[in-house]
Amino acid sequence: MTTHRPCTLAVHAGNHADPATGAVAPPIHLATTFRHGPAGERIAGYEYQREGDPTNDRLREALVALEGGATALTFASGMAAMTTALESLPAGSRVLFPDDCYSGLRMLFNEVLPQRGLVIETVDMADLDAVRAACATPLAVLWIETPSNPLLKVCDIAALAEIGHAAGALVVADNTFATPLLQRPLALGADIVMHSTTKYFGGHSDVLGGALVFARDDAFAKQVAHRLHVTGGVLAPFSAWLILRGCRSLGARMAMHCANARKLAEFLATHPAVERVNWPGLPTHPDHAVAAKQMRDFGAMLSVELRGGREAALAVAGRLRIFTNATSLGGCESLVEHRASVEGPNPRSPQNLLRISVGLEDGDDLVADFRQALG
Ligand SMILES: *Cc1c(COP(=O)(O)O)cnc(C)c1O
Repeated sequence: MTTHRPCTLAVHAGNHADPATGAVAPPIHLATTFRHGPAGERIAGYEYQREGDPTNDRLREALVALEGGATALTFASGMAAMTTALESLPAGSRVLFPDDCYSGLRMLFNEVLPQRGLVIETVDMADLDAVRAACATPLAVLWIETPSNPLLKVCDIAALAEIGHAAGALVVADNTFATPLLQRPLALGADIVMHSTTKYFGGHSDVLGGALVFARDDAFAKQVAHRLHVTGGVLAPFSAWLILRGCRSLGARMAMHCANARKLAEFLATHPAVERVNWPGLPTHPDHAVAAKQMRDFGAMLSVELRGGREAALAVAGRLRIFTNATSLGGCESLVEHRASVEGPNPRSPQNLLRISVGLEDGDDLVADFRQALG
């Protein structure tokens, strides 16, 4: 299976026919407990749902195949995946995070991880000299998010993996925005890939989930698995089934998402009301060359900075008809969000910035909607 191309893997990985019935679509096993022998002997490999179930195992298999890993774990959310991995580090561990990143990760490293005794620093991951300088002190984890949220910065995974490994660190990449259809961080040297499967994997804005895919089934992977099973942030079987169902169309959806994003980004880049478009597929994007080197396509998340500041951004967001004002990303429907309004008292996003998740509507309709909203 692992020799096949990504679209084939997305359709077939973990999708063996049910041996009992021949059903082509997988069953959902909702059982919380599984019969065992009188001395606790496992009969079919399962014991209690918190320690694993057949539906989650199919999703884990699909994730391993798509990311080219050795083993995977599924979680109740992307945040549960991050937290379980990071809390598995010994107290006193130093972790380096990107300066532009998912807002939940920012809360995690500002509020929660220091209470667990982790030492946190942030750096611009596109500035390799700054990363090298930060790696001069012993480092446990170098955390990559590329493309980043909400500025769509792209950093060089292979270069960062080399720098991180030279410092003795584990290199973790949040691959939520790109998905393995566009970018495979383990092949570029990362040790662990993290996903919010809530986004493109689920693909329909109706299921919350997270995942970690490990390059090696080593002591750390086993430690994180044990922590998940003890602390219990597991993914429900029905959620695993929905994410697996989303996975089957991931290749087709990503192709259309990317094509629509290109159309919209190219239109916005030429519009006089627009100051700047952040989409790594544009040749004018500062990280375009790195993106072209490590991604098959450039993704469907973009942000746009408007002339006229906060007022202009809010006015455009209010006039859009097809795009829904909502957070999150990766669903069929296009979403827009004035990030500065939802980031709390000290927003980091520019006031004139709108973040866009380009959906699966007709690309020309999406362009027309922005054309009317920009006036
Ligand atoms: C949504 C998201 C997360 C968090 O995932 P949840 O499933 O919402 O907990 C982490 N990283 C990125 C890049 C995200 O977009």
